Amino acid sequence: MPNYQAVLDATFNHIQPLLHAGKVADYIPALAEQKIGQFAIALHTNEGNSFTAGNCNTRFTVQSVSKVMTLTMALQRYEDELWQRVGKEPSGTAFNSLTQLEFENGIPRNPFINAGAIVTCDALFSRLGAPIHTMLEQYRRQSGNAKVIINKRVAQSEFEYRYRNAAMAYLMKSFSNFSNEVEEVLWSYFNYCAIELNCIELARTFSYLSNQGYCAQSQQQLISAKQTKQLNSLLFTSGLYDAAGDFAYRVGMPGKSGVSGTIIAVVPGQFTIAVWSPGLDKFGNSVAGIAALEYLSEQLGTAIF
Ligand code: GLN
Repeated sequence: MPNYQAVLDATFNHIQPLLHAGKVADYIPALAEQKIGQFAIALHTNEGNSFTAGNCNTRFTVQSVSKVMTLTMALQRYEDELWQRVGKEPSGTAFNSLTQLEFENGIPRNPFINAGAIVTCDALFSRLGAPIHTMLEQYRRQSGNAKVIINKRVAQSEFEYRYRNAAMAYLMKSFSNFSNEVEEVLWSYFNYCAIELNCIELARTFSYLSNQGYCAQSQQQLISAKQTKQLNSLLFTSGLYDAAGDFAYRVGMPGKSGVSGTIIAVVPGQFTIAVWSPGLDKFGNSVAGIAALEYLSEQLGTAIF
């Protein structure tokens, strides 16, 4: 086994000059309060070992990383039928872009931009009793922390400033690509974004992505090996919005970012990593987080190509 601890320590060292780079997300007051200059990284192997560096006890909201779990749970219930409602193509536009929906009959390009995640939440909403509670319980099982909570202040604040996301949802409804009450589905979406984990819990939660769909913590086969391969492929092409190409070029792993400054990345067959540092670039991705994954993939030679 490679010396993961040494590589994480070296990675932490490597990103020091970037700790204060970028800007904290400020589209809602509750996120704008996050302090820049923080960093954590955790690597969880398929054998069940965790390695960490930085502030790994600090929790943050998962934000758009939640879109991966939403998609996983929707694929469990719809399989390929889901793709009638949302596409599989990179968007080339910002995570909160509206324009493409108008020209493509209300079908979002992929499940990782906001419109795509919201329509996936709508699909899930139709098949989940108590959607927020069920989702939270699933995170608790997979993360190994029965006390995971939703940061209600963040969820409330996102809901209060929901205009853009609401506009997307109503536009999709006008194209008959939305089944439930928009406001109710948005509330579930914001609650999913506001689930709080630390990097160790996050890496454990998404470890099924490197392990053919099997989560060892919850002892569940969440999706099939084939679906896991498909999900990782979509993460590779669309996980970092309009910066997915640059991330693929620099890091060479499937990944998903969130505006709290977190990113998960996957080396199929080996491990899942979670990194967090709140300073964002103009695409809404963590500056130090991407630099850390780039360095780590070089050190371990784990880019999938
Ligand atoms: N909650 C955020 C939103 O919908 C998620 C965005 C993100 O992490 N990119 O605006």
